[in-house]
Amino acid sequence: MKNIQAIRGMKDYLPKDTALLQRIEGILKRVLEGYGYSEIRLPIAEKTSLFKRAIGEMTDVVEKEMYTFNDRNGDCITLRPEGTAGCVRAAIEHGLLYNQEQRLWYIGPMFRYERPQKGRYRQFHQLGAEVFGLAGPDIDAELILLTARCWKTLGIAEHIKLEINCIGSQSTRAHYRNMLITFLEKHVSILDADCTRRMYRNPLRVLDSKNPEMQTLLNDAPRLSQYLDSESSDHFTGLCTLLSQAGISYTINERLVRGLDYYNRTVFEWVTTDIGSLGAVCAGGRYDGLIEQFSGNYVPAIGFAIGLERLVCLVQAIYPDFTVQPTIDIYIVSYGIGTKSNAIQLAEQVREALPNLKLMTNYGKGNFKKQITRADKWGARIALILGENEVVTQKVVLKNMENGQQEMLAQSETVTRLSQILHYGERHYGN
Ligand code: ATP
Ligand code: MG
Repeated sequence: MKNIQAIRGMKDYLPKDTALLQRIEGILKRVLEGYGYSEIRLPIAEKTSLFKRAIGEMTDVVEKEMYTFNDRNGDCITLRPEGTAGCVRAAIEHGLLYNQEQRLWYIGPMFRYERPQKGRYRQFHQLGAEVFGLAGPDIDAELILLTARCWKTLGIAEHIKLEINCIGSQSTRAHYRNMLITFLEKHVSILDADCTRRMYRNPLRVLDSKNPEMQTLLNDAPRLSQYLDSESSDHFTGLCTLLSQAGISYTINERLVRGLDYYNRTVFEWVTTDIGSLGAVCAGGRYDGLIEQFSGNYVPAIGFAIGLERLVCLVQAIYPDFTVQPTIDIYIVSYGIGTKSNAIQLAEQVREALPNLKLMTNYGKGNFKKQITRADKWGARIALILGENEVVTQKVVLKNMENGQQEMLAQSETVTRLSQILHYGERHYGN
């Protein structure tokens, strides 16, 4: 194993990190379920052509960031850089879109070949939602409210801000695109390398350049809002009203565009300044044309994705002491000849009768004292101790780790006594 390391930008989640992630995921999942969304599980790889068509050939993701390879049959396959394309593909393939509304959510790893840094990885995780068959703006508002509730439940609402924008229809954008290119051409000598590269290929992306000089230049550029079609404007006004009436604060950021081609009308981001310059923890928008492009049937759609690494990073920045330590309820200590077999049997008896308890048995080395220390490390509330004498007499010593008291009881009474002490049945185990 010498010199074998993880792939750059793909990180391991050790048990402690995993426990924290699970806690956060659990909260998000409960919010989604509370709005009637159902989980969908999708493959992590799809045909490359799906992403090229859905995301767009000229986007950064497709041009530079995809993990693409030929499989053994020579088929061109890509590790998914995002979840929407696969979700749309699955919904069409399984006929989920005929006169039906769908409210779906997914979670899982995404892959993008980017320069790794804090909050930016090559394998990262997104939790996303997609709604099919609803034209909005009420559903747009619901998705935003849903995400707002996620932040509230996580206790981070004060640290994250909503930005929204309307990017109109494909045709409005085409018109605006030309006006923007004309403007950029006039200033080509002062454009930075990124903007020069994007000027013809994906000019709208120039708008969200991170370079302050480019942002200043853009103050004089034509504004997308002046080119919106009236349906898009009305939709946006409707959304703004619904949000205000629901008590959601937002900023209209006219330069908010999305990196993927399929968006139209509503786009939004939840941003924070607490994790450096990588502001967006959650991003989403409407993509009414995408399903028609694949299936020929017009089905309006909207979705968002939360970057889980960035969310965890934000939670940790706000609550530096918030860690989740994996713990157990009961630790079985055994020492001496014949005690291991008895310990295994006793453990199984307890698990059979009290299935929601977390119980761990000590194996291998260690005298009583060392094993008790381990029980303590795991946060066990009770240690069950077996020595050679106890095996002979079929008794067990029960040590209450919280107050240090010990008692000896018949092994056959263990389950009854444990449920008394731990108030099993009253307390809610298994969370
Ligand atoms: P950015 O502008 O930061 O590159 P993006 O526009 O490419 O983001 P989306 O495609 O909208 O991002 O993805 C939704 C969310 O997924 C982002 O807001 C972010 O939280 C997260 N995300 C995107 N790329 C990465 C990455 N490489 N590592 C970690 N999280 C990511
Ligand atoms: Mg990106």
